[in-house]
Amino acid sequence: MPETPKFDILFEQLPDAVYLIDPESSNILWCNRAAYEDLGLDAVDVLNHSVISLQKDVRGLPQWTDIAQVIRSVPVYTFVGRHRHREGGEIAVEVNTSHFSHDGREYFLSIARNINKRVATEQRLNESAQQNWFVLNESMDGLWDWKVATGDVFFSPKLKQILGYGPDEMQPKVETWSNNIHPEDKDYVLAALQQHMDGRCGRYEAEYRIMNRNGYYMWIYDRGKITEYDQHGQPQRIIGMMQNITDRKLLELHLEHLAHLDDLTQLANRRAGMNQLNQMLQQAETQQQPLCVGVIDIDNFKHINDQYGHPMGDEVIAGVAQMLRQHLRKTDYVFRMGGEEFVFLLPNTSTDEAQQLEQALHARLRDIDWLGGYNIPQVTFSIGIACFPEDTQNKDHVLTLADSALYQAKENGRNRTCFVANNEGEIP
Ligand code: GH3
Ligand code: MG
Ligand code: MG
Repeated sequence: MPETPKFDILFEQLPDAVYLIDPESSNILWCNRAAYEDLGLDAVDVLNHSVISLQKDVRGLPQWTDIAQVIRSVPVYTFVGRHRHREGGEIAVEVNTSHFSHDGREYFLSIARNINKRVATEQRLNESAQQNWFVLNESMDGLWDWKVATGDVFFSPKLKQILGYGPDEMQPKVETWSNNIHPEDKDYVLAALQQHMDGRCGRYEAEYRIMNRNGYYMWIYDRGKITEYDQHGQPQRIIGMMQNITDRKLLELHLEHLAHLDDLTQLANRRAGMNQLNQMLQQAETQQQPLCVGVIDIDNFKHINDQYGHPMGDEVIAGVAQMLRQHLRKTDYVFRMGGEEFVFLLPNTSTDEAQQLEQALHARLRDIDWLGGYNIPQVTFSIGIACFPEDTQNKDHVLTLADSALYQAKENGRNRTCFVANNEGEIP
């Protein structure tokens, strides 16, 4: 067996500082090289000095008595403190102290390890953790962090706040999110997410409605990105942010609604109406159902304007619009084409049914007490009706045909309806 080096030599090579301490006086009875060199001192500066003199945080003997008491009470006493360096700096140390007796005398053995690097790293981590926490709580967005395989999701406090939940509410599961998406939006949202997960799209992004804790739907702008894949290349973790866009979305929808509305009559305007006409014609063709299109024009309206003034003319237009809205069926659609001209769309309606309806409209118009409310003797209108596909199979021609039927009704003496099929135009 090779001769083992003396224990003193081994201690001298130790990177940790080793101190043998007298429990009574706190004096250092023996130490290794690291014990003084690390502090920029010589052995004489340390030996027979109180171990407390090395410490920045412990002062005076009364405290030593307490410390010694604690050291005696446990097998190993660990504390983190700061040693002074001769140059004035400080060294963070973790000190492990044990107690033992030898030859009837009690000793403390302390081993101090320089943990400057560890403390600095912890400090940096702590600082960035605090920054992250601040961003999480103060930003307008809520964060989610989804472990795809388990379905576990971390919802940040801000996200919970956005959806009206308390910090300890909301099951941390992906279903808590997906089950609350508005049924009309869910397919589109899940498809957008799947597209990103399949690699067909660089990120996930969606605007949708989600039910909050109070049962109301709110609008959310949501986006996320895969941050980790498993060894098979499958997404393992997706992180994203959610923003409450309810106010902006409602305003947008309101403005969109207004953009489609005619100011005077509150009916759909020409642009929205023409869109609707095209859609309903398309639907009629697909479902092989008839669609009747009627054009209404108030008779001799110039005369009303001239005789009673433009504002009164406006009131008449609004009055006729209101009557149309009230007396058309729920499935019908009416819009203001412009001036004193309206268009109505009657889905799944035969020519006979359309005829009953137009007669009812003439009758309702007659019923209005223009003399009482407007001081106008009488208002009448003429109507031209074309039916798809009975009168034409070309969807682009339906409105023009209805217009020509209206022209015919005017020609035939006004206050009547002309159908394309029978454009004689009878007085209702
Ligand atoms: P017809 O029986 O042939 O339809 O005769 P009309 O006098 O009604 O003739 P036309 O339909 O060509 O005239 C419509 C008039 O409606 C012309 C225009 O000055 C007026 N007008 C258009 N828009 C408005 C409006 O918003 N308010 C008012 N008060 N008048 C309007
Ligand atoms: Mg006109
Ligand atoms: Mg007119």
